[in-house]
Amino acid sequence: MAIYAVGHKNPDTDTIASAIAMADLWSKVKEETKAIAQGELAPETAFVLEKFGVAAPEVVTDATDKKIILVDHSDLAQSLDNLDKGEVVAVVDHHKLGDVTTSNPLEMWVWPVGCTGTVINSMYKFYNVEVPKEVAGVLLCAILSDTVMFKSVTCTDADKAAVEELAKIAGVADVTALGMEMFNVKSAVAGASMNELVFRDYKDFDMSGNKIGIGQLEVVDLSVFDDIKADLYAELEKVKADGRHSCFLLLTDIMKEGSEMLIVSDNPAVVEKAFGVAPEGTSVWLDGVMSRKKQVVPNFEKAFA
Ligand code: MG
Ligand code: MG
Ligand code: MG
Repeated sequence: MAIYAVGHKNPDTDTIASAIAMADLWSKVKEETKAIAQGELAPETAFVLEKFGVAAPEVVTDATDKKIILVDHSDLAQSLDNLDKGEVVAVVDHHKLGDVTTSNPLEMWVWPVGCTGTVINSMYKFYNVEVPKEVAGVLLCAILSDTVMFKSVTCTDADKAAVEELAKIAGVADVTALGMEMFNVKSAVAGASMNELVFRDYKDFDMSGNKIGIGQLEVVDLSVFDDIKADLYAELEKVKADGRHSCFLLLTDIMKEGSEMLIVSDNPAVVEKAFGVAPEGTSVWLDGVMSRKKQVVPNFEKAFA
């Protein structure tokens, strides 16, 4: 029986690249492992896989009777259905520890770095396995994506060192050019439905018993949202109405290094409590805020506590 490596729902580039890399590494050092995904690829990720000639993982959403390696998450809410009917054999992640538990010993690689790809690069070294060229390419892009080309507060020296090593293996001479190319693909919103945009990089959280949804769109220029912001907001209201206390959408400007957050909440005052900035109408500009993980989720968790 194959082991399956899988990242979080609404897969991003790190989740997909890390599943692919773990499948490669685990197959070489342990047992046959297959990369899977919980959903279709975002445009950025499709661009990255195409660029390095890697096939998209098959979409699988149920863990029943499967051995599972979790990458880029350890929260049940973000994981496969029926995870308790499968067996988690490893967790490789860079988020706060979630609520996944196991009945057997497992391998845990959870580091406070900017990207799961950085952890996996170190795992290759630990196991003395060379990173294949195409895997190096997708891991490199995952790190550039998750760290917003080193600008995010989540970025560490380990991420920068990993990018340097992986770029050599992948034969990428200009890492910044590759990163800009990738973020330009990510910034394209034309042709996407509002629902697709809200859920492109979206996570649900349980905060003191409240279901809180937080989406994020990272672009090189917020003007791409000028014509669609009202429609995006209307879609966010729909998502919130589906049993949630609040829904927030971060529109992150990676050049200005800040985020406009659209707000739909039963208690909008929680935003000022969390960030110390009063919203103007239904949104607020959060200067310097680019990381949902480090700069948004912890603030809301405190505000909801
Ligand atoms: Mg991720
Ligand atoms: Mg990640
Ligand atoms: Mg991200």
